[in-house]
Amino acid sequence: MYIVQIASECAPVIKAGGLGDVVYGLSRELETRENCVEIILPKYDCMRYDHIWRLHDAYRDLWVPWYGAAIHCSVYCGWVHGQVCFFIEPHSEDNFFNRGCYYGCSDDNMRFAFFSKAALEFLLQSNKRPDVIHCHDWQTGLVPIMLYEMYQHYGMERQRVCYTIHNFKHQGIAGADLLWATGLNREPYYFHYDRLRDNFNPFALNYMKGGIVYSNYVNTVSPHHAWEAHHTGISYGLGHTLHLNQDKFGGILNGIDYDMWNPESDRYIPYHYAKHDLQGKALNKKALRDRLLLSHVDKPIVAFIGRLDDQKGVHLVHHAIYHALHKGAQFVLLGSATDAGINNRFWHEKNFLNNNPDCHLELGFNEELAHLIYAGADMIVVPSNYEPCGLTQVIGLQYGAVPIVRGVGGLVNTVFDQDHDSTKPPEERNGYVFYQADNHALESAMDRALDLWRQNPDSFRQLMVQGMVYDYSWNHPGEEYLAVYDHIRHK
Ligand code: ADP
Repeated sequence: MYIVQIASECAPVIKAGGLGDVVYGLSRELETRENCVEIILPKYDCMRYDHIWRLHDAYRDLWVPWYGAAIHCSVYCGWVHGQVCFFIEPHSEDNFFNRGCYYGCSDDNMRFAFFSKAALEFLLQSNKRPDVIHCHDWQTGLVPIMLYEMYQHYGMERQRVCYTIHNFKHQGIAGADLLWATGLNREPYYFHYDRLRDNFNPFALNYMKGGIVYSNYVNTVSPHHAWEAHHTGISYGLGHTLHLNQDKFGGILNGIDYDMWNPESDRYIPYHYAKHDLQGKALNKKALRDRLLLSHVDKPIVAFIGRLDDQKGVHLVHHAIYHALHKGAQFVLLGSATDAGINNRFWHEKNFLNNNPDCHLELGFNEELAHLIYAGADMIVVPSNYEPCGLTQVIGLQYGAVPIVRGVGGLVNTVFDQDHDSTKPPEERNGYVFYQADNHALESAMDRALDLWRQNPDSFRQLMVQGMVYDYSWNHPGEEYLAVYDHIRHK
């Protein structure tokens, strides 16, 4: 099969969070199953060019219609750890992707509307006719709309779209301007409730809603979050749209790329280790302490890695730091915040804890350090408010860092409580789960983990190993996506 992914991220070259990991990992898996996969991305000025091999211009004269005129673009091609990627660079005063950031601009809706249009135009003009176009999140929600309403009439009538929603929180909102810019026009038609009109704001067009309506298949990134999105208020106003489209909506659990995330071969960690020989993990713990200037004492290290965003339960992250210290553990945090209030709060905490030899807060994005933390930590805490899938607990499991998670979304599908899980026998349990979003619930789960570490190290080691044997590679989800592609191709 010939599959084209259109996305705003692809790890490690463009990564703000799990979306990047998924686009890369899924593509690799599909290729090992003998499919042809190409990824179309924006050419951001700030992406990690050091992860691209042989970047060269592949298509010089791509003219993309925009506001009745056209913007000249170049398309570059290169290999990101074996995966072929195309990067679209517009030459216009808007400077859409030369902003020193991936997201967070006031015209993000127009930046990614343009990117979606440019990606389709590239497919059309370069005669690429994939069997399946796979789009991700709001940034590419307009692709299935433009494909169905415009590009199929230009000769792309056989292409089918799978649309994956990684996070319902950001949906992409625009006014009628969007229609003039993209050439969709026909204001009354697209403002119809059955098409793009936002479910709550009658004057707004909603990219993600349109993506759901127009795609051949829609999924979110875990079965439990699919259920939550459909049956609870967690889908930020799209529940009714999902209900109307329930026949083509499902949940497919994310995997992780075991070449990138493997303690036996990880190039960012100084000591390799495996489930049958955990010696290297102890050495990595030492290396982590050296790197972060933590004291070398007989204490467990609890870690948090992730975006510092309301979604991630920042009030509980904050509490976890102090509770770990109070219980005689060490705490390492690696996170970045886009919200100024949250950012200030964690900078304040960082300054306050600066001289504490048991704690380090690293505020920023650092891929290499993340690997060392997974390898050196004993436990990883994920107290999210909601979590479509969550990768940090899965990576933690792979690296023998026992997850302590809140029982929401994909965390429910991946972590099984050591003491209380009723679905798995004791030898298949792999972590700790709490449910209420309050300090007491978090504390009780952390206490159970910390007590086991201290009082029964053999059982704790056994729990680590039980986590490490889980197969959360792309093997199984890869099969599921291929079944979806096959299904929509033959519909
Ligand atoms: P989300 O997609 O909501 O951000 P996930 O748990 O699905 O969360 O994926 C997070 C990914 O981003 C993981 O690969 C994690 O290691 C990585 N990550 C998150 N924050 C940072 C950071 N500050 N530095 C390095 N890696 C990070």
